Amino acid sequence: MQFRLLSRLLKGDFLSYPQEPHNLRVRLLLAIGAWSLIILGGTWGVYYLCHAKWLLMACHLSLVSLGLYALRLINAGRERFVAICMAHGLFVIISMICILDVPIENAVRSVHMYFLPVAAGASLIFRKDNLYLRLILPFIILAACLAFGPSHIGITRPDLIADQEIRSIGAWINNLAALAILGVALIVMQTDITIRNSLYADMREALAKGHFCLHYQPQVDAEGHIFGAEALLRWQHPTRGMIPPGVFIAVAEETGLIQPIGTWVLKEACAQLVKWSKDPQTAHLSIAVNVSASQLRQPDFVQEVIEIVTRSGATPAHLKLELTESMLAKDVDTTIQKMKALRAFGISWSLDDFGTGYSSLNYLKHLPFEQLKIDQSFVRDLLTNESDKAIVETLVVLSKNLNMMLIAEGVETTEQLNYLLNKGCMKYQGYLFSRPLPINTFEEFLPAFHASKAYMQLKAQLTLL
Ligand code: C2E
Ligand code: CA
Ligand code: CA
Repeated sequence: MQFRLLSRLLKGDFLSYPQEPHNLRVRLLLAIGAWSLIILGGTWGVYYLCHAKWLLMACHLSLVSLGLYALRLINAGRERFVAICMAHGLFVIISMICILDVPIENAVRSVHMYFLPVAAGASLIFRKDNLYLRLILPFIILAACLAFGPSHIGITRPDLIADQEIRSIGAWINNLAALAILGVALIVMQTDITIRNSLYADMREALAKGHFCLHYQPQVDAEGHIFGAEALLRWQHPTRGMIPPGVFIAVAEETGLIQPIGTWVLKEACAQLVKWSKDPQTAHLSIAVNVSASQLRQPDFVQEVIEIVTRSGATPAHLKLELTESMLAKDVDTTIQKMKALRAFGISWSLDDFGTGYSSLNYLKHLPFEQLKIDQSFVRDLLTNESDKAIVETLVVLSKNLNMMLIAEGVETTEQLNYLLNKGCMKYQGYLFSRPLPINTFEEFLPAFHASKAYMQLKAQLTLL
């Protein structure tokens, strides 16, 4: 996995945003850090083992353990946790080695140089995180580098520290290795900034030139009726082709561009509702629109939505806004007020990715959600994973108790559909029915759906119940 990441970096793939969002560069940086720990820690660990310097050996082998642990977790997709463990673990272990790397005659201290790439890496990885991780931690790491650099703090017992000859060679190795890792970290950071800037500029141009479009993914009920669609944003890039939102939404949020983009999405969805309302075949359809955290935080969010819907002439009851659980963590009271105001206007709310964000059931009771959307991660392994089964069953009961509709996202197989149906989840969205489609294809799909295999399966299953 890490070799694949590295070879893509060398080929220049990482310089091109449609392939690689920010978190892949974070992964790469962590993987480089982990391998550096294994190689450097392992080499020095073996050397000190051969020379019976047990304390130094233990410190270096703990670096190897940290590297191996990090690699395992990177592969499990837990980058933030790995980064936190690595930054703190390295701070402690490098400090301990620095204490044993005390300056003596003809041998200067060099291990403190490793603080530099750790601080640079931390400031890149935690760029969007809280104040402690983003600023205070890198600052403490840099302060440690400055404190150890010129000082003579440390242990001078000859049986604990390395011999003078190896320390002179070690100083060269440490300085060169630390600078090389720092160089790689700076290249990755620079790439990240360049890509973000070009992505931002390109998105502004795309918005002005009308290169964004919406794809619609049907939502189906247990009777086999398509009752609505989720509007999913796509960027039709003139040279790079279709770019999915996973590549650009995060940067749009960070740069504030999500607000004009979100406004465009709402206007487009409302215009579509108005078109559908004129045809009896489509007049019943609703559209679910994703709302981002920074859109919701805008003080005039409620006013803007009401204005867009009113001006378009769309029926508010046909519009559904989707929020994710993480958006409920901050400023719940204001969020509740805004949600209630739009609910009173007729718009309904759906809680997206439900089950992933540990939302408090107490909050849920007070939030005017009409629908809960089971996250696709629980549906994916539904048939094989006992805890996913238990979660889905709990969500069915919970939605009934809270008097909310439940929809399962990411339904890909008839087995998943049958399981959900049997457990009482009566609304679905997923590739089993259709992928998100451009509007023309979606409208062709509507009448054809009744002849589809998924529809037949659903009907067959219903008759068994
Ligand atoms: P989401 O809101 O959770 O949307 C569902 C995603 O799951 C979509 O990815 C959809 O294509 C995908 N999906 C649907 N059914 C299946 C399935 O059966 N299997 C699998 N593997 N995937 C399925 P997409 O379109 O790439 O969107 C990704 C995310 O981007 C969305 O996740 C949403 O958070 C965000 N997004 C999309 N459009 C907008 C938008 O207009 N505004 C905002 N703020 N975010 C948007
Ligand atoms: Ca959604
Ligand atoms: Ca979702």
